[in-house]
Amino acid sequence: MTISENLKNFKNELPDNVTLVAVSKTKPVSDLMEAYNAGQRVFGENKIQEMESKWQEMPKDIEWHMIGHVQRNKVKYMAPFVNLIHAVDSFKLLKEIDKEAEKNERTIACLLQIKIAEEDSKFGMDEADAASLLSSEEFKKLQNVEVIGLMGMATFTDDEKQVSEEFQKLKKIYDKFRIQAGQFSGSEFKVLSMGMSGDYKLAIENGSNMIRVGSAIFGERN
Ligand SMILES: *Cc1c(COP(=O)(O)O)cnc(C)c1O
Repeated sequence: MTISENLKNFKNELPDNVTLVAVSKTKPVSDLMEAYNAGQRVFGENKIQEMESKWQEMPKDIEWHMIGHVQRNKVKYMAPFVNLIHAVDSFKLLKEIDKEAEKNERTIACLLQIKIAEEDSKFGMDEADAASLLSSEEFKKLQNVEVIGLMGMATFTDDEKQVSEEFQKLKKIYDKFRIQAGQFSGSEFKVLSMGMSGDYKLAIENGSNMIRVGSAIFGERN
């Protein structure tokens, strides 16, 4: 199937409240343009320099999401244009994003990445660290970042029960934080980013409202 056919199927299948982030990492601009011409406007990349060069080349009504792990020294390259940073996992990183956002006279929306998978390799904070970050005085002082939700990645396994349980765990934390969000910073807490090509159905069943889908749209990556 072609990229535009895949996107059409997603559009028919997804509930209205679920945002589809088309994960275009490693794919050429021609593939992204095919998705763009089929109406897709939200793209996710995991390398800052690759995202920056695609941003330069492509139409300016695209929303660019950084979904990968972020090194602090590279934040400046995406600060002028990035719409949402999914994988914030420390206050230090949030502070750097705030600084670069201020230089660009903008506010940058972020998600905190929560570790829900059992593998050690997945980045992310635990619930307690995220809660104390959000309720800290240092966080309240940051004027140019908004934490608008959470992101997580389930364990890479065929065990659907395990994947569902991990998504449920994240949904629970999200609901808890949502109730407290007003106290945190006044920004709206409204995004739960979970689900990829292999597990987005389970993620949506368990409360996701933003899925990050690459190979099911663009085909396998090399
Ligand atoms: C690559 C990637 C995805 C998309 O993966 P697919 O399995 O191709 O859908 C989603 N989220 C993150 C963080 C990724 O790095």
